Amino acid sequence: MDSLERFATEKLARLDATGLKRTLATTSRASGAVVWHDGQRLISFSCNDYLNLSTHPDVIAAALGATQAYGVGAGASRAVTGNHPLYAALESRLAALKGTQDAVVFGSGYLANSGIIPALLGTADVAFVDALAHACIWAGAKRSGAKIITFAHNSTADLTNLLAAHRAQYRHALIATDTVFSMDGDLAPLDALADLAAAHDSWLLSDDAHGLGVVPRQPGAGRVQLQMGTLSKAIGGYGGYLCASANIIALIRNRASSFIYSTGLPPASIASAIAALDFIALNPAYAALPLAKAQQFTAALGLQPAQSPIVPVILGDARAALAASKMLQEHGFLVTAIRPPTVPYGTARLRCTFSAAHGDADIDRLAGLVADLLAKKS
Ligand SMILES: *Cc1c(COP(=O)(O)O)cnc(C)c1O
Repeated sequence: MDSLERFATEKLARLDATGLKRTLATTSRASGAVVWHDGQRLISFSCNDYLNLSTHPDVIAAALGATQAYGVGAGASRAVTGNHPLYAALESRLAALKGTQDAVVFGSGYLANSGIIPALLGTADVAFVDALAHACIWAGAKRSGAKIITFAHNSTADLTNLLAAHRAQYRHALIATDTVFSMDGDLAPLDALADLAAAHDSWLLSDDAHGLGVVPRQPGAGRVQLQMGTLSKAIGGYGGYLCASANIIALIRNRASSFIYSTGLPPASIASAIAALDFIALNPAYAALPLAKAQQFTAALGLQPAQSPIVPVILGDARAALAASKMLQEHGFLVTAIRPPTVPYGTARLRCTFSAAHGDADIDRLAGLVADLLAKKS
């Protein structure tokens, strides 16, 4: 065996031994919450398509129409010839929704944060990052070369101390957080973070990937200078975005390498995002369902009310989380185990996500099974 093969084999064996090896199961998503996973029909509590818009007839029709009009691919980066006519409509929609002067759409949410942060920060600067912020915020912060200082999750007290101790040594400072935390479902204290940013001449970036369309905007959201997010969760498709002032957006279009050196999105992705945003604007009661269903689940378990459609059930050990997921699968539910390094060591969990399509009886049955699990654990 050559050294590369040996490296891969040994590394995989180590992951396997600690319950951390990942294998991809083929999953095809039918309508509603039903999926076919490894050949089994399951009710999924593991999709981020909170409003089931990925399969909505109007959204599909928009994608088909755009494909017929413009083809399947953008053909080049947006700065060259990939800036097809649908982009301007989507960007002005997003800016209006977030109350900013302008917006820019990226290839994905991951690409957005990977490009935004290095376009704004360099080696003379500092990024204060929430300990549980999404991997793509860390990727962007690392690429920027800025000093990275982690603050305790949602702790404005810790952030206050860190800003007081370190801010002055650097030229520019960024505070970066998720708006809705992707693995915990809780919300960042945006108003307090905006106060701290203002008091310490720092910029504030908040990643609303799991909020857009399904979590009411919080106090302080309008004070966030860099409002990024994705079109891949409640919007049902693909693509990332940043909403900000006209000058910031113009700078990002000039300087974010993940924007400049990557091909524009397929026209179908842009058209379907516009159709999904139209649908959400016209159907606010429907858009409120995922949060209400998550709250039905937390109420059934006697947990704190869900703040978003994401509810974690923390089991600790990665193997325990895998076993719990397998048990739920035997009862017809798909709830994937989330393990390190996606979440901190010792906090492996079932991550339950709720969509508008979940039936009340299925939610109650899942809650019953989870209650048994938690009773056995304690
Ligand atoms: C999913 C997610 C992303 C990545 O978005 P993609 O469009 O899937 O690349 C970024 N940030 C958070 C918080 C996410 O949950």
